[in-house]
Amino acid sequence: MTFDRLFPEVHDLVTGLWEHPELGYAEHRTARVVEEFLLRHGDGLPVEHFSTTGLKVSLPSAAPADPQRRRLAVVAELDAVISPAHPDADPATGAVHACGHHTQVGIALAVFAHLVATEAWRQADIDLSFVFVPAEEFVDLAHRAELRERGEITWFGGKPEAMMLGVFDDIDAAVCLHAIGGRQDGPTIEIDCDLAGFLYKTVEFEGTASHAGLDPFSGTNAYSMATLFTTALGLGRQQLREDVLVRMNPVIPASEMTTNVVPHRVTVGTDVRSTDLDYLGEVAARVDRAAHGCAAALGGTAHITTEMGYLPFVQDRTMSGAFRDAFAEDDAITTLIEDRGAIAAAGDAGDLSFLVPTVQLSYGGFDGTIHGRDFSMIDPEHVLIAVPRLLERALLVMGRHLPDPLPRRSYAQYVDALDAITPVPAGARAALGPVESGAAARTQETR
Ligand SMILES: [Zn+2]
Ligand SMILES: [Zn+2]
Repeated sequence: MTFDRLFPEVHDLVTGLWEHPELGYAEHRTARVVEEFLLRHGDGLPVEHFSTTGLKVSLPSAAPADPQRRRLAVVAELDAVISPAHPDADPATGAVHACGHHTQVGIALAVFAHLVATEAWRQADIDLSFVFVPAEEFVDLAHRAELRERGEITWFGGKPEAMMLGVFDDIDAAVCLHAIGGRQDGPTIEIDCDLAGFLYKTVEFEGTASHAGLDPFSGTNAYSMATLFTTALGLGRQQLREDVLVRMNPVIPASEMTTNVVPHRVTVGTDVRSTDLDYLGEVAARVDRAAHGCAAALGGTAHITTEMGYLPFVQDRTMSGAFRDAFAEDDAITTLIEDRGAIAAAGDAGDLSFLVPTVQLSYGGFDGTIHGRDFSMIDPEHVLIAVPRLLERALLVMGRHLPDPLPRRSYAQYVDALDAITPVPAGARAALGPVESGAAARTQETR
């Protein structure tokens, strides 16, 4: 079976995902479609389930007796983003695949089916697994907080959740996939694009309500504190380093304000991003100081909660060599963008890269802005034929492109690293300790 022959089926599946976008931890239809494909093409390989909607399938080892043998995960994301301005957004949820995750799924499935059908995995110098993770987009947080409250999830991001559940315990390296926004000249791929990390702050300013016309003098205006705070953040940018891509986007996610009452409570939410983890902590402390100072200046108080978002993603340059070689042999893909530096987008590939060496293969074939109202796939043959072909070629030789020695950190180290920045979610350490096998017990198999 060639990638051309797989194309109609994969393209139909990807189109179906585009038409049925689902938010993180609720990708139930998506997961069902993926599982059906895996069972149809998997030649009896078991499909493991994890968390709400996650799936994992592992090809057999071609050299099970070799102690040096490594295993690599190809990682695809199942969820859509919220971008209600997009004409194809789900009217009820605002969900749309404006980040292109539906095509990650298509590419991973095409490669999986091809490897099984041709038995090419027997020639690979590394063993291969495919992991379909929920919830990469950091959105719909109130719902995720509910899921956490009910004990269904611990982490807002699907990869940390999978890491906690032991999904990557037998994995030595990972390849993630992502769409490139905008339009390129000809069929394009990209490697070595690092991402920022971020944390998320919620600042609740508290004042005192009073009649805004009759007696504003008795009030303490929480909205004024919020305004002063966003002004302080703006002015504070002068003292921020330029080389590590600091970003903040303070917003008021919801408001109870009305014009005849001095607002007694206003909540500002903001991300704080940087490519430098230490500096991220420093900026976060400045944000806290500004919040408390602005509240105090106007006679109120600020209550701050901080949630870690994702870690910065530094791609493994050694592994990228496999893509560079595969590109050199490829006659369909004409452009390779290499190492254009870091960008201030973030993803939980950063968290995974803390555990094992990780790279992300990015691919063009789209038009419009990522997360924007005009994002769409315009070159399905590139995305679903040429990219899978190149990816498979690289995967077959990835064993000789692994860094030596091969770094590996544990989930426990991950939790410690995050805890040094901001408190980790309750339950994050529950998977540690004597019941390490509990994580594995929470996965189940189907055929
Ligand atoms: Zn996105
Ligand atoms: Zn994305």
